[in-house]
Amino acid sequence: MANQNVVVSDAITAAVAAPSLFPAAAQKPPAVPGTYISISQKKLVQNLDINSAARINSWVDSMRALSPTHIKSHSLSDHRNMQLPSAMDMFEQIMNDSKGKQIVMFLDYDGTLSPIVEDADQAFMSNAMRETVRKVARYFPTAIVSGRGLDQVYSFVRLAELYYAGSHGMDIKGPSKSSKHTKGGEAVLYQPASQFLPMMDEVYKALLEVTKDTPGSTVDNNKYCLSVHFRRVDEKKWIELATKVGSVMEAYPDLILTQGRKVFEIRPPSKWNKGKALEFLLESLGYANCADVYPIYIGDDRTDEDAFKILRERGQGSGILVSKIPKDTNASYSLQEPSEVMAFLRRLVEWKKSSLRKQFMRKARLQGIKMPLPI
Ligand SMILES: [Mg+2]
Repeated sequence: MANQNVVVSDAITAAVAAPSLFPAAAQKPPAVPGTYISISQKKLVQNLDINSAARINSWVDSMRALSPTHIKSHSLSDHRNMQLPSAMDMFEQIMNDSKGKQIVMFLDYDGTLSPIVEDADQAFMSNAMRETVRKVARYFPTAIVSGRGLDQVYSFVRLAELYYAGSHGMDIKGPSKSSKHTKGGEAVLYQPASQFLPMMDEVYKALLEVTKDTPGSTVDNNKYCLSVHFRRVDEKKWIELATKVGSVMEAYPDLILTQGRKVFEIRPPSKWNKGKALEFLLESLGYANCADVYPIYIGDDRTDEDAFKILRERGQGSGILVSKIPKDTNASYSLQEPSEVMAFLRRLVEWKKSSLRKQFMRKARLQGIKMPLPI
């Protein structure tokens, strides 16, 4: 069972990764790639034993615990993340730590640059945020790291000068537009799990089939990540939906299933994750085994923990968790919500401009000449 890449464990990942959950089906050979699977829900539900039913219930408990409406009702919802200092409060210290090093920015998309909304297709970032990210990329190499497919996340961000790591880093692409930090026109940089594409397409079709009678559910095929959204599914239907998803996964015990905010995500059994993508991008930028780099990774999701963990292991840079509530995390700092992320990024840009001005003035003073200020 190739599930070592599931660094962030939860009830659902454990359920799908455990062969004992669906013992009979785990013996079945995988379906032939490219064939269409028609699964009778009734038959599959009958196949689920009592332990499986209990596991499905634990999925649903996890679905409830992670849903924004339930988080809102939590008594800590209005409190700052008590486990982590605020990245805004600690801004000067972060900049001091980065002194003499190249800052490289890594930004998650959903819940970091855009608000979490009911309809995932409507998770637009504001123009103000886009302009802010554009300015950040003017001064620092910048990458968007998302669970969404590469094309989809690009269609939301629409900044050609950035690096993009879609599908949790399984689909990485360099900038198509030259900037100070990049060479334009680079082709796809890396697709570490391309051999799983036929299987992912097959599972997508099976998920579409079994969820078609669950009102409000949608299934996205983001190439290396299939997403079953249940934001608009009646909570009374969650057990049924979890059972249906479990029934499909039964035939694909090697695939990895995790749960985000009102979404199931299914990925290939690749050890690749957002943390590996961060390392790959640092290497691509020429910072492999380099002490003079300071990566800053900002994200709100469990899958971002892989990147936070890499930064901790490297002893480099800062992981910043976007969250209003305390969480078990490998991040070092917190920001409460996307608007605070934007404030942090703007402050970063102003800090860089100010540093450049000071450098320029010092140089001009040493040379005893009057020169126009840089922008
Ligand atoms: Mg996110």
